[in-house]
This record gives sequence, structure tokens and C-alpha cells, in this order.
Amino acid sequence: MDIEKIKKEIVEVSRFMYNRGYITSKEGNLSYKVDNFILITPSGTPKFKIKEDDIVVLDIEDVRKGLKMNASSEIFTHLACYDTDDSVKCILHAHPENTILLNLLNEDFKKKILFEAEYFLGDIYVSEYATPGTPEGAEVVRGVKNDIIVLDKHGVIIKSKKDLWDAFFKLEILEKYSSLLYKYLLFNKQ
Ligand code: 13P
Ligand code: ZN
Repeated sequence: MDIEKIKKEIVEVSRFMYNRGYITSKEGNLSYKVDNFILITPSGTPKFKIKEDDIVVLDIEDVRKGLKMNASSEIFTHLACYDTDDSVKCILHAHPENTILLNLLNEDFKKKILFEAEYFLGDIYVSEYATPGTPEGAEVVRGVKNDIIVLDKHGVIIKSKKDLWDAFFKLEILEKYSSLLYKYLLFNKQ
């Protein structure tokens, strides 16, 4: 895999996530696993101004030993997802508003109102709450095979076996589905 191409993809998808409002300020993070290396966005950097040279590249075994450099605070959450399924190639983490709203309202993501959501997203897993960026945050996603995980009172993790654009499109569909479901529930209060 071409590392420079991957860095470019991370930068481009980061900007799209920011511009679509799925992350604001310094939120969110994105990574790729290539052999025994992880490429990940740096911690605390606004994604609209991230550059290829900012992407942190680390040997996964060094990360397990504690080397983190300035990598995202969620690096262990990403690693737990890669550990769970070896075929996962890349991961994004975002804070999409309507999806978080539904989660805060304790709404069931499986309510069927949109065929596309069912078809493209599959089963959505809602994790237990853990403080973002902590070792507990990694443990609540470890062993979860679903491509989409809603992190309780926090955001989402989206995995892809293809590329970050695939993960981004799932994020777009999820957020549209959540927005529709949220409005539907508002107008159809039982
Ligand atoms: P980082 O800037 O450390 O990647 O954290 C952003 C975030 O969304 C934490 O959950
Ligand atoms: Zn977060």
C-alpha cells in the first residue's frame, strides 16, 4: 500500500468530515492499518487544516509498549477495533449531531424508516459509556464486530475493510438516517 496515498486520503476525508459538520473544532480522528503500522491523525488538531506531514505513523508493537508520540488520544480505541477483526483496514471517529441526539434520547437505531439505512449500514451497535480517550474506551469496543458503533454519549466509530471514503459514506448515511428518524419521532410523539 502506498503510504503517501493513504496520508492524502486521511487528509481529504478529514476535511470532508469537518465541512459536513460531523466534527467541529478539534474533534474526531482517522486511522489506517498497514501491515504492523498504524497511521493516525494527531491529537487536538482541527481536521480542516491537517496536512499529510501531520499524520502520525507508528509501529503497533511500539504503541502497545506505550509509545504514542502526538497520536490521537483514541489510538487504543482504534487498535482495539483492528485487534477485533484483522480485515478492518481503516477507521474514522466523529461526533455527528443527530446520531448523538438519538443516542441521548435512548432511541432504537433499528426503527425501519429508510431502506438505504438498513441496506448500507447493517446492524448498529451501541456501546456502553466510557470516558473518551481512556483505556476503558478501548475495552467497550473490543470484540464488537459491527462496522458501526455508537459510543454512548460521545460519538461514532465507523470501520471499513475498503477505504476511508467507504467509511465516510456510511457516516453520511447514518447521519441522514438519524436526522430523519429524529424528526419523525418529533412529529409522531406517541
Ligand atoms: P483527538 O484529538 O485526541 O484525536 O481526540 C478527538 C476526539 O474526538 C476524542 O474523542
Ligand atoms: Zn470523540
